[in-house]
Amino acid sequence: MAANSFKSYSLRNYNDIPQIQKLSQSDKTAIEIVGNVLPFKTNNYVIDNLINWDNIPVDPIYTLTFPRKEMLLDKHYLIMEKLIKENPSREILTKEANRIRMELNPHPAGQKHNVPSVDGIELAGVQHKYRETVLFFPSQGQTCHAYCTFCFRWPQFVGMNELKFATKEIELLSRYLMQHREVTDVLFTGGDPMIMKTKILSAYIEPLLDEALYNIQTIRIGTKAIGYWPNRFLTDDDADDLMRLFEKINRSGKNLAIMAHFNHPVELSTVAAQDAIRRIRATGAQIRTQSPVLKHINDSPDVWAELWRKQVNNNCIPYYMFVARDTGAQHFFAVSLVDAWKIFREAYQKVSGVCRTVRGPSMSSTPGKIQVLGVSNVRDEKVIVMRFLQGRDPDWIARPFFAEYDDSATWLDDLKPAFGEEKFFFEDELENIFHEHVYDDEVENFE
Ligand SMILES: *Cc1c(COP(=O)(O)O)cnc(C)c1O
Ligand code: SF4
Repeated sequence: MAANSFKSYSLRNYNDIPQIQKLSQSDKTAIEIVGNVLPFKTNNYVIDNLINWDNIPVDPIYTLTFPRKEMLLDKHYLIMEKLIKENPSREILTKEANRIRMELNPHPAGQKHNVPSVDGIELAGVQHKYRETVLFFPSQGQTCHAYCTFCFRWPQFVGMNELKFATKEIELLSRYLMQHREVTDVLFTGGDPMIMKTKILSAYIEPLLDEALYNIQTIRIGTKAIGYWPNRFLTDDDADDLMRLFEKINRSGKNLAIMAHFNHPVELSTVAAQDAIRRIRATGAQIRTQSPVLKHINDSPDVWAELWRKQVNNNCIPYYMFVARDTGAQHFFAVSLVDAWKIFREAYQKVSGVCRTVRGPSMSSTPGKIQVLGVSNVRDEKVIVMRFLQGRDPDWIARPFFAEYDDSATWLDDLKPAFGEEKFFFEDELENIFHEHVYDDEVENFE
């Protein structure tokens, strides 16, 4: 097998991974048990280049892509362990796994939004939450080159089809964008849109280059492929065509922004990743980067400082640091809001201004993207200061607001307004926004 031909591994065939013999029996059992509930998929590039197999199971990229025992709550682990020993039918196993998944908050709390519609037709694979930016989930892009164990999009990958959020309807999207001239950005997301063949991706993108869509100024593509499969941009058989598509977007006068997910500096350390970045940048595209802060992966200021420096050295622009969502294996990965801020602040102090384009730590919550600005004292009360980076109402953006200090809070829902106030300033209006529309379930995201 050539080093650059893609080989994917899941629960079905992980025993074929040559390095798997380095695992203890209990690590292997954990893959079997946890991998039946949370998504598990990895590939030969991740295995051969990113994981240090002498550092199992605590290696950050191993933890990022392989199921570990602690990722399930003990009670769930025990149920699955017992069931698997009984050698159940596929059907029974899936049923129990789905029952546990439903307890893992597959739709993070209260995430509702209006599915946009055009001429009375619902756009099921589109989200329009913030005025300027529309998210588009192309139906063929709802998988990835490997799965992150922290990922809150896991309902899309584990075959719970009723939760799948996708569409083929680019024509409808174009019509919608013509009727919504306030939209300047279309963000392709997934899964990972770079899983698609160039031919399919260009069928989605080319219509957006039409002059009639003069309002669209930036096309963004959210992807983890530079980290998980840089050959997508180098040696895959349609990699050259992909570069031509990127060039074409730039020639059309629109900005192409690759929103790259990097969770750990090791992802930027390979020649392939660095070459992929160089090639993408040579088409005129920008690369902006983002990641959540995660326990066991990157919960240290040194790791973040190195991540940002490496990104800048490779011509990428640090964009967002996120707080982990309250879903899936959150008990394993969650960092408190106060700790996330401390990590951000210490890392931010270590780097020069060119890295400080990054904003965070930020929660993608129901009302908007909320940045934790820090801990302060106001009139003898210890408070957490926050602001909106993005809001359902643009008027909320960039106004500082305050919560009671709470060093165990991991999400907005855990916080109370400071100074004895009953509600945060945006809560009444948020209610109103919700009541004005018909809502459907929303898959929240980090983009
Ligand atoms: C983050 C996000 C965007 C893009 O926001 P920017 O701040 O412009 O990067 C758009 N839609 C949703 C739902 C988002 O979560
Ligand atoms: S974080 Fe991105 S690359 Fe990782 S599994 Fe989720 S969608 Fe896929």
